Amino acid sequence: MHHTVAIIGSGPAGYTAAIYAGRADLNPVVFAGPEPGGQLMITTDVENYPGFPEGVMGPEMMQLFQKQAERFGADVRFEIVTKVDLSAAPFKIWVSDAEHTAETVIISTGASAKWIGLEGEKTFGGFGVSACATCDGFFFRGKEVIVVGGGDTAMEEANYLTRHASKVYVVHRRDSFRASKIMQQRVLDNPKIEVIWNSAVVDIHGDVEPHKKLKAVTLEDTVTGERKQMPIDGLFVAIGHKPNSDVFTDWLQTDDLGYLLVEKGTATTSIPGVFACGDVTDRVYRQAVTAAGTGCMAAIEAERYLESVGH
Ligand code: NAP
Repeated sequence: MHHTVAIIGSGPAGYTAAIYAGRADLNPVVFAGPEPGGQLMITTDVENYPGFPEGVMGPEMMQLFQKQAERFGADVRFEIVTKVDLSAAPFKIWVSDAEHTAETVIISTGASAKWIGLEGEKTFGGFGVSACATCDGFFFRGKEVIVVGGGDTAMEEANYLTRHASKVYVVHRRDSFRASKIMQQRVLDNPKIEVIWNSAVVDIHGDVEPHKKLKAVTLEDTVTGERKQMPIDGLFVAIGHKPNSDVFTDWLQTDDLGYLLVEKGTATTSIPGVFACGDVTDRVYRQAVTAAGTGCMAAIEAERYLESVGH
C-alpha cells in the first residue's frame, strides 16, 4: 500500500505530526506501534500540558490526540513496524510481512523507560510506581519515596522530588554513583535525601483492592544477600531510558545512547524525506509538550519536502 506520509509511532510527537499532515491534506498513515499512545499511557494525571487547567489523565489525553488526528483524515493503524528500507524514496516499511511504501517518513517512535523487571512495576505503574518525577512527583507531597538508580537521571529525579516529598531514599546497587560529580554532590548535600548503598529493590508490595496502592518494597543487600521490607509511598525507577531506534539504525545515525540524530533545531535527518521527532531524538527534555512541538516541525518539514520534489 502506498502513502504520501507515513508516521511511525503514536505518542504526542506522532499524533501532532499527523494532525499537521492531515490538515495539509496529506492523508497520513500512523503506525501506532507496540505501545500505542506512548509513555503517557502509563501516567495518571498530566498537569503540565498547557490547555488542561484541571489536568487530564495521560490515556485520556492520548485518546484526544488520536481523535484530533483522525478528524483530519489520519489513518491510525494499531500495527508494529518491523523493518524499513530508507535507501531511496519511495521508502519501504514492513508491518510483519505486509509491505508499505511512502513518499516521506516521520519517525516518532519515542523512548521507553527502563524497568527493573518486577511484576509489581506493572501492577502499581501509575499507582505509586513511576519512571518520571517531573510527571508524578507532585502526587507525593509530604510522602516518602524511593528513587532507584545511580546515574544523572536518578540524581536529578531525587533532587526534584525533595520539592514535594518529605523524604527521598536513593537506592543504588553499588557503593558509588555513576552520575557526574556535581549531580552526586547535590544529592549528598541534600538533607531530605538518604542514600541506601549496595541495595536493590527485589519485590513490590501493596493493595490491589479496593484501590491499587503501593505500600512497601523488599530491599536486598547486594553484598550480603540480606532482605528486608521497607514501607514506602512511592517508587521512582530512574535507571535510564532506551530510545526506540533499533529499526532505523541501519539507515540513520544515532548518538552514543541510540538517540536518532537530527540537524539542530529541525526534524531533518541525514536522509532527505525522512524526519524524526519526539523522544527518539531527545535525551534532554523528554516532555509531551516538547515532543508535540517537534512533531509539528517534522510535519511542516515533510510538507515542504514534498513540495520541493513536486508532489
Ligand atoms: P545511566 O547513566 O545509564 O545510569 C543508569 C543507572 O541505573 C546506573 O547507576 C545503573 O547502575 C543503574 N541501573 C541500571 N540498570 C539497573 C537495574 N536493573 N537495577 C538497578 N539499577 C540499575 O542512565 P541515566 O542516569 O538515565 O543517564 C543517561 C544519560 O543521560 C547519561 O549520559 C547522563 O549523563 C545523561 N543525563 C544528564 C543529565 C544532566 O546532565 N542534567 C540528566 C539526566 C541524564 P550502575 O551504575 O551500577 O551501572
